[in-house]
Amino acid sequence: TWGLVREELIKRVGKNNYVTWIEPLKFSDLNNGVVRFEVPTSFFGDWVSRNFSDHIRAQLNTAGQQVERVEFSVGNRSTPPEPMRAATAPARAKPAARPSDTDEMPGAPLDARFTFDSFVVGKPNELAHAAARRVAEGGPVTFNPLFLYGGVGLGKTHLMHAIAHELQTRQPHLRVLYLSAEQFMYRFVQALRERQIMDFKELFRSVDVLMVDDVQFIAGKDSTQEEFFHTFNALVDQNKQIVISADRAPGEIKDLEDRIKSRLQCGLVVDLHPTDYELRLGILQQKVELYRSQYKGLVIADGVLEFLAHRITTNVRVLEGALTRLFAFASLVGREITLELAQDCLADILRASDRKLTIEEIQRKVAEHYNIRLSDMIGPKRVRTIARPRQIAMYLAKQLTPRSLPEIGRRFGGRDHTTIMHGVRKIEELMATDSQLNDDLQMLRRQLQG
Ligand code: ADP
Ligand code: MG
Repeated sequence: TWGLVREELIKRVGKNNYVTWIEPLKFSDLNNGVVRFEVPTSFFGDWVSRNFSDHIRAQLNTAGQQVERVEFSVGNRSTPPEPMRAATAPARAKPAARPSDTDEMPGAPLDARFTFDSFVVGKPNELAHAAARRVAEGGPVTFNPLFLYGGVGLGKTHLMHAIAHELQTRQPHLRVLYLSAEQFMYRFVQALRERQIMDFKELFRSVDVLMVDDVQFIAGKDSTQEEFFHTFNALVDQNKQIVISADRAPGEIKDLEDRIKSRLQCGLVVDLHPTDYELRLGILQQKVELYRSQYKGLVIADGVLEFLAHRITTNVRVLEGALTRLFAFASLVGREITLELAQDCLADILRASDRKLTIEEIQRKVAEHYNIRLSDMIGPKRVRTIARPRQIAMYLAKQLTPRSLPEIGRRFGGRDHTTIMHGVRKIEELMATDSQLNDDLQMLRRQLQG
């Protein structure tokens, strides 16, 4: 049975987690529906219990063992217990249906889809990709840490999982630990609370590769930073590879201690640039290939992918979401995926994506419409024929971009935020009575949002 259980568990939690967390478990006994395992430390047991015990229980049940509860106790090292695969003792208790309380928990199982194979390489991410590949080869550590940064949805997590998958395939004995900085903090705080800080330290310092995702999260969290710093140093001293990601460059993370910043800069810092049209199209094409088997016979008209790659520029996650929705919708209504269908079905996403509009574009469009100079938008002139269009541009900037009033002010020649607010209010007031203004605004909006 254990062979099957093992296979399934690897599928559920990922090879990486399996090797790190489940393989070291030693079966001790199975009695009245309670299966017990020995673990090296209580921290280890706690982690496995929170993250994987439901999986273990479920798989043992599937394999015919009646297991209601999984318990862990710290092993007595002098008498090595039987290995887990000897779990054959019969038991009678009925397995209780219990909602999983571990799903949202740390331990961060790897996403099986996030591999190098499924990562589309383009200009904006080729350096990050090459660096990730290098680390994934598992050779001698050449740069430490690898620091990947970039905006939301540009593939940081994807690359980190890909590294872990690859390392696990090439060198199954390696202990690769991937988690988010938030999970790191959570585990740390918990270890403090439960007075298991030594276990915590031991665990994090005994991995071969440590990957911490979204490290900006620990900024401003003093004791977590402190612990992270020590963990980091201990691993670097042992020449263990570290991979870190963040939403910005180390030097730009606010409230992160300087010594940590400089440590993070010691290795290789690479950024993932915003996607370009070619990369987005490549990602869409790859996705469509994946969908072909799932949605057999679904036709996608020429130009639809190009349209999406052109219009949805925010991030890859949104792009993928749009395509998924489009396929699901088209198959539901049994229609070909046409441009019209895409426009209908994705109206909200397309609109949201348009908020990428820059203030500069708005100024240009408004200046053009009212036949004034672009430089007058930011200049000091106060005559009505110039001041009014300027206020309209302020109003549209507030409406159509996520920029704050001070930010808008800066782009209007360094005006104060109260001036911007005044302009926006003025236009809102006029809108109540001025139908010409309303027509103008409607037209400008349409032009700006394409
Ligand atoms: P981040 O961690 O940078 O916010 P993710 O790694 O979670 O972004 O990526 C968001 C989504 O976009 C994931 O589903 C990921 O697979 C996909 N994705 C991002 N970049 C690429 C790429 N170059 N090729 C294929 N998929 C990508
Ligand atoms: Mg991420």
